[in-house]
Amino acid sequence: MITDFRGMRVTVMGLGTFGGGIGAVQFLAAQGAAVTVTDLKPAGELAAAVAQIADCPNVVQQLGGHRDDDFRRVDLVVASPAVPKTSRYLQMARDSGAPITSEMNLFWERNRGQTICVTGSNGKSTTTALIHALLSAAKGTLQMRETPSESPPSESPVQRIAGAPQTIWLGGNIGKSLLPTVDQIQPSDWVVLELSSFQLEDLAVLQPNPHVAVVTNFTPNHLDRHATVDAYREAKQNLLRWQTEDRFAIVNQNDADVAAWPTRARRFWFGRDDEGRQGMFAVGFDTYKRRALFRFGPREQVLPLGRWLALPGMHNFENALSASCAALLLGTAPSEIEAALTKFEGLPHRLQQVANKADRRFYDDSKSTTPEATVLALESFRAPVVLLAGGYDKGIDLSRLAGEIVRRRVKAVALLGQTGEKLKWHLRQADPDGRVAAKVHVTLAGAFEWAAAQSSPGDVVVLSPGCASYDWFANYEARGDEFTRLARAWVGGL
Ligand code: ADP
Repeated sequence: MITDFRGMRVTVMGLGTFGGGIGAVQFLAAQGAAVTVTDLKPAGELAAAVAQIADCPNVVQQLGGHRDDDFRRVDLVVASPAVPKTSRYLQMARDSGAPITSEMNLFWERNRGQTICVTGSNGKSTTTALIHALLSAAKGTLQMRETPSESPPSESPVQRIAGAPQTIWLGGNIGKSLLPTVDQIQPSDWVVLELSSFQLEDLAVLQPNPHVAVVTNFTPNHLDRHATVDAYREAKQNLLRWQTEDRFAIVNQNDADVAAWPTRARRFWFGRDDEGRQGMFAVGFDTYKRRALFRFGPREQVLPLGRWLALPGMHNFENALSASCAALLLGTAPSEIEAALTKFEGLPHRLQQVANKADRRFYDDSKSTTPEATVLALESFRAPVVLLAGGYDKGIDLSRLAGEIVRRRVKAVALLGQTGEKLKWHLRQADPDGRVAAKVHVTLAGAFEWAAAQSSPGDVVVLSPGCASYDWFANYEARGDEFTRLARAWVGGL
């Protein structure tokens, strides 16, 4: 591990907008390195990130393209996880003998706090934020016992120390770098990290051994960067691969792939049914009032998790199951879990309730950029749905989405973007009698007005496009923000 960066020539490859590049520049500049930060994108597209490094000393910005020299005459390269390993610039650095690392690796080497890490294909950010909220609600210090033999199998491996100060940190792929503040993290603190497959691929050289690992699920995506499903799976398995017996792995019982991943850690499960395993499981038949059973050794406890959780959808209930399992294992009390879950509003653009008036609720699900995500949104409501869907045309098949819209008796669909006409055609195939009202729009504002007019008291109005946003917006955040603004203006104008 490098302990003295003073005078080192370091190239940060990929400033990006997600926080990792920014955190790396801030950390290295503060350590006295001579930093060059480079990105393919021009400064104009990175304005928010550039502003955050404006005050860092000794930083050269090389934006809008990479320069060979920044990889040939350099002592260290910190590469964004988004950079393909086959990049010719990385090869140049290797050829010139410069080591290559990542923001997360620099953090992991220096972090003294106890770690809870979340990975999976879907639900990572929500689960990570939930765990952070649950542990933050716990009073006193949750301290892992030093030797596992001290903790009998039925008792939490964590002891509570009254009153001692403890910080629960949140970071990683969720969009916040903890690297600039790594020195402030105390050994008694908990660090809750979301880790992507790319970050886990890079972490392999450090053989990470998180105190608690959570795997939400595994579906083959991201195959644009990982050459094969096996490579993608192997990267994710790095979270469990080097865990020791005194550590915990919380995995999805209903995901046959994840359930078979090897680990030496003590395994806990979460899932839709109780099959007698250790962990946390849904019980009861009514999805919307589901309770959860926590089993830890001989201890069994039923909690009204569905009543506490403010987020809609079975997928969010599953996220709450794994998050609560982690929190209970670490000694959080049920009353603290209740307090945190009832307050948890969800992350922006993920089925987030953004307005509620005249007995209508408005949800921003702009992060839904695939038909599967929109189906998940439709499954989440019992109330009649007025949907806003469509967007950039990636050429994916929309017939199943149209079928689900009709089958689930969606009341009306405001159609957006390049796929608007296509989706309308598929809807008419699935619904020749025209029971689902559908209209193509040319602006989000127009679509919103129409959708609001179609809604009645008791309905939900949901933006869940099922398509990317690039035709009308810079990104899904901008699309969701505009919807939120329209919804709030509409309820304000009533
Ligand atoms: P990630 O960080 O893995 O992208 P998020 O928590 O940001 O996950 O959620 C993104 C989207 O993934 C949600 O809007 C929802 O459509 C879907 N999702 C969330 N949780 C789950 C889950 N447990 N299972 C399947 N899909 C999920």
